[in-house]
Amino acid sequence: MSSFRERWNVCASNIARRTHNPIRSIVENIVVEPNPNKPMIALSIGDPTTFGNLKPPKEVIEAVQESVASQLYNGYAPSTGYQRAREAVAEYSSNEFVKVDPKDVILCSGCSCALDLCITALAREGQNILIPRPGFSIYRTLAEGLGITVKSYDLRPELGWEIDLDDLEAQIDESTAAIVINNPSNPCGSVFSRDHILDILDIAARYYVPIIADEIYEHMVFPGRTFHSLASLSTEVPILSCSGLTKRFLVPGWRMGWIIIHDRQNVLEIEIRKGLHCLSQRIIGSNTIIQGALPAILGQTPQNFFDDVIHTLHSHSKLAYSCIVKIPGLKPIMPDGAMYMMVYIDLPCFPEFNSDLEFVQRLLMEESVFCLPGQTGNHGTVQHARGSLSKDSRILRETSL
Ligand SMILES: *Cc1c(COP(=O)(O)O)cnc(C)c1O
Repeated sequence: MSSFRERWNVCASNIARRTHNPIRSIVENIVVEPNPNKPMIALSIGDPTTFGNLKPPKEVIEAVQESVASQLYNGYAPSTGYQRAREAVAEYSSNEFVKVDPKDVILCSGCSCALDLCITALAREGQNILIPRPGFSIYRTLAEGLGITVKSYDLRPELGWEIDLDDLEAQIDESTAAIVINNPSNPCGSVFSRDHILDILDIAARYYVPIIADEIYEHMVFPGRTFHSLASLSTEVPILSCSGLTKRFLVPGWRMGWIIIHDRQNVLEIEIRKGLHCLSQRIIGSNTIIQGALPAILGQTPQNFFDDVIHTLHSHSKLAYSCIVKIPGLKPIMPDGAMYMMVYIDLPCFPEFNSDLEFVQRLLMEESVFCLPGQTGNHGTVQHARGSLSKDSRILRETSL
């Protein structure tokens, strides 16, 4: 019998071939082995649960238990989420400067999915989006898979990792569909000042480019710092802000994130809003058990839980700083928030290494300590490595000695 294609000839799609997550590849394909005589200390992935020392509060656990037991959330929700869950996010995200309407909330399967929807809705194949360097790798992964070009704008370590505004402006062209801003930052641990955010908004407004705000670390700032959301400082620039439970509530595996459409000038009506709604139907909405628990999670988590997490992260950052600063050739940069610390590697002090990647590989081989290369070295010789601060302080101390 002659077959239509003669033989099995199954090829991967363009999207599958073009999709690549550099962090996952480094973590999953690292070529060297840890030192078998030393326990592995993984500071590589920003998962606050890996060492078991940071746990969600009992109110949150109980909210999910009740959601399951109620049997009310076993079915399909509307693909943008249940009304009550969206109301809870709207209330959680409203303050004296921004009033969020539940109709502007779209629940997603984690913040990554929120970012995916925003990038996919705003940018077409052949257009570009601007992303921070150094920055979280998923923006590139999502965009390049879709045939969207990414252009990086630099962050300036000497200015507390503020955006190089001249560089940002220089990167904008006719085909720029969106600017991704991540504040507080992974991997830098930086928190932008009000004035800096106003400068960013001014550029977006002058060139009429919407912003995708990755604010998954919202409110995770150390004492003395203030988090300003992009939307709280803008009336003009359309902003899609992305956040979720993942980091602040310490539950990355629950996959609950959201988009909030901030669009006071109705720039994103009707096309982009409709696009986001249609795209949310591709996976028929996010996890309903967590949606059922959202009003209690967002409404009943006690403030002292958040304060304790911040206190832990802050004291870990001070501990890591004080240990690393004593090591010749390494210069830690004290973070202002989030869960990471960047360390400047003065490569001339380490002549056997050509790059931050080689440095972190050897650190893994000799000490079984796994940090991520900052890969900031593509503009000059500045090399950094990133370590996560969510680990036990005993482990952090051991790491740094
Ligand atoms: C962790 C993280 C995310 C992804 O969060 P999920 O909710 O797990 O998808 C997005 N952006 C940044 C900057 C992150 O660090």
